[in-house]
Amino acid sequence: MTSEADPREPEEGENSAPVASQAREMARLTPMMAQYLAIKAANPDCLLFYRMGDFYELFFKDAEIASRALGIVLTKRGKHEGEDIRMCGVPVERADDYLQRLIGLGHRVAVCEQLEDPAEAKKRGNKSVVRRDVVRLVTPGTITEDRLLEPGRANILVAVQRIKSGETRALFGLAALDISTGAFSLSEADEAGLSVEIARIEPSEILAPQALFDDPAISRLFSEARAAVTPIGRDMTDSALAERRICDYYGVETLDGFGAFTRAEIGAAAIALAYVERTQIEARPALSPPSRRIRGSSLEIDASTRANLELTRTLSGERAGSLLAAIDLTLTSAGARQLAERLASPLTRPSDIASRLDAVAYLVGEGRLRADLRAMLSAAPDFIRALSRLSLDRGGPRDLAAMRDGLHVARSVGRKLAEQIISSANLAEASAQLVQADDALEGELAATLNDELPLNKRDGGFVRAGTLAPLDEARALRDESRRVIAELQGKYCELAETRQLKIKHNNFLGFYIETQQAQGEKLLRPPHSATFIHRQTMAGAMRFSTNELAELEAKIASAADRALALELAAFDRLRAACLAQMEAIRGLGLALAEIDVACALAELAVSRDWTRPIVDDSLSFVIEGGRHPVVEAALHARGEPFVANDADLSGEVADGGRIALITGPNMAGKSTYLRQNALIATLAQIGSFVPARRAHIGIVDRLFSRVGAADDLARGRSTFMVEMVETAAILNQASVRSLVILDEIGRGTATFDGLSIAFATIEHLNAVNRSRTLFATHFHELTRLSKTLPRLFNLTMRVTEWNNNLVFLHEVTSGSADRSYGIQVAKLAGLPQSVIERARVILAELEATNRSGAALRSIDELPLFAVAAKPTPRKDDKDELREKLATIDPDDLTPRDAQAALYLLKKLAAENGR
Ligand code: ADP
Ligand code: MG
Repeated sequence: MTSEADPREPEEGENSAPVASQAREMARLTPMMAQYLAIKAANPDCLLFYRMGDFYELFFKDAEIASRALGIVLTKRGKHEGEDIRMCGVPVERADDYLQRLIGLGHRVAVCEQLEDPAEAKKRGNKSVVRRDVVRLVTPGTITEDRLLEPGRANILVAVQRIKSGETRALFGLAALDISTGAFSLSEADEAGLSVEIARIEPSEILAPQALFDDPAISRLFSEARAAVTPIGRDMTDSALAERRICDYYGVETLDGFGAFTRAEIGAAAIALAYVERTQIEARPALSPPSRRIRGSSLEIDASTRANLELTRTLSGERAGSLLAAIDLTLTSAGARQLAERLASPLTRPSDIASRLDAVAYLVGEGRLRADLRAMLSAAPDFIRALSRLSLDRGGPRDLAAMRDGLHVARSVGRKLAEQIISSANLAEASAQLVQADDALEGELAATLNDELPLNKRDGGFVRAGTLAPLDEARALRDESRRVIAELQGKYCELAETRQLKIKHNNFLGFYIETQQAQGEKLLRPPHSATFIHRQTMAGAMRFSTNELAELEAKIASAADRALALELAAFDRLRAACLAQMEAIRGLGLALAEIDVACALAELAVSRDWTRPIVDDSLSFVIEGGRHPVVEAALHARGEPFVANDADLSGEVADGGRIALITGPNMAGKSTYLRQNALIATLAQIGSFVPARRAHIGIVDRLFSRVGAADDLARGRSTFMVEMVETAAILNQASVRSLVILDEIGRGTATFDGLSIAFATIEHLNAVNRSRTLFATHFHELTRLSKTLPRLFNLTMRVTEWNNNLVFLHEVTSGSADRSYGIQVAKLAGLPQSVIERARVILAELEATNRSGAALRSIDELPLFAVAAKPTPRKDDKDELREKLATIDPDDLTPRDAQAALYLLKKLAAENGR
């Protein structure tokens, strides 16, 4: 029992009238409320989880926020400054679930624990409060619990620091930290590169000095990152102390051993570490030494390109339907995270890419081995995250078991690979590392841990019988005493001359004897009263204890305490043994993840018939029989074939790449074709096989993808503005090594504006950027450019008309579309026949004027309104066609029905002799 009143009962004296002076109010506060307010004042930006027994309680505004967010009951508890104190609580056992929801909603939570046993507090006097303090701040970027984390996704906290460089320019340092795995990397970016870096890192939480949030451009960039943002005060951003702070964290004298870092990087790293110290209070996660990402070492992909290409999420933000989801055949969480990381930052060095491809190719060729490895991998737990929890002293017996099983898988996979002659340097290296997995540690864990394990170490029972002699003794004593107690029941029955006597146990009384009322009355009198001590009278029953029972109980309790203490000591020993090998174990985790990724990509290549791309330093871009991995899978699921297409944008570095201009009707497959080529390049550069018959790709340094008139209402900018901002970024940044994909640029404005902008954009791409480019457009006028720009060529999507209906062949051929087929598509979409007919008339008129050389201006002269005002003459009052039409509800038709209806209407029209 705590020394405090039940939190749900009002405390004495708290219901009195409001007092004007806050000081007087404070003086009258219960000691506990005073403690609460002091702790809350120290953590104003967090919801405070205040531990009271088996609950975390929230008070005041916190309680309102939490009760609304969690859908739990809001109650009252006494008064403060004349107002009811609102409160709500969550049981400690289920706190993780509630935390997850609050964090998911962007809240931060300060977890305040009882730091002493309530009995200790009582020793200081009856009125004293249990000592409490915040042991941890839980924020989106600092969580470590499995239940709060997504298994296949890193959870990254990124700190950003800005350093002035020269008069006007600024450099940004970024420190990306995943506390759940210990990964820590630093990078630097200029103003344009900052958003690209943040898009690559995809952080859960962004930390930055307040000054950066005061800059509207940066603050907008942060708010677009789908991350929680945390401004940092001056106390954590002092750049003079930055280097010292990092050294202190790692316990080293200088940073030289870690590598050379820039001032911006050191500044960012110091902020990240200061924040770790601030949120983890006493605990220190064991972090890897910071590694440095060199600029240009990965394919740069900005946020809108990532979004457009749906690399890791779809446009609507889900993982399902993204490229990552389509290619992820990994079997371990660490493997899934590594694959996601590769996709976030494809490589730019052909030799590094070739090493990864060698690993995939080797495993493609070794189907049997691959199957064996995958069977082993599927048993690997997420032991890196378990290790991180252990380092924070937040781990339980199951985390130790994860270490045991992880080490086991590491060693078996290592051994299996060591038996092979491996033609991949990466795999050989990983295998050499894995065979070094410490079997002594694994053996000790295996020998010590039980098969069934509790979640919490406090629950005990996780150490296997027979491994620790003193523990076995304590347990025997405990169990023996239990057996003796069971025997006592028989003895007491005899003594009391009854069979209705039972020995029971509850948390309040401990062991006690229960009899029926009548029998109990007898025990209250001599001679029984000498043995039986009355404890409680219940309805119809009485409860007693005896000295003997109390002694046994004490024995059991002390034996159980002793057993638990021994188990906890064993836990600490094993934990220390794991932590002593932290870096080595983390290395095993990474090696295993690498093998998982290689096996998964090989599996993918075999099952989907993908091929090894050639990746080099040229300006090639040759794809034969390329496919869109996601669209193909979706069509495949519906039993429909995907039409493979070629692409060739190859050029010479001196001249630049080619520009393909793609025309064709809506729905013909232009966007799919554009994206598939970008995805194939991306896949090639992560070191994966690609969905094509053959692919030869010269390294792409930056990838740009823009879609005209993308709906971007969420950001509150006009869609055309967004389109132009993004196009500007391409024209300013794309180089001869870049790959540019422009899909219907210029669609968001008036025809002539759009056409002119598209024209000028292509000319700039051709003359200045010289990037390999795919440009899909509905402006047929642009196809004329092929006459004047030698590196530009026209492609079109083949369609055919069958029975006056448009059929998409999804096939790319050279040349340009002879017309836009807009009216046919409109017809397919179910526009009323009268509108379709009318559109045909106008089109014919327009085309005639255009061909006769008259200025396009003549469109204005078309008697649009005059014609439209005239109702189409009705041919026949009993017009079957009309009757049939009237029965069709376009909103209620499947595509198949729509087509059938169209055929029928055509037939009727023919019969009507129109
Ligand atoms: P567009 O950009 O020309 O309007 P999309 O690329 O959006 O056309 O393609 C429209 C639909 O056509 C896609 O959703 C897909 O179902 C189908 N499609 C596109 N390309 C192919 C292909 N190569 N093979 C089979 N179906 C395709
Ligand atoms: Mg399109």
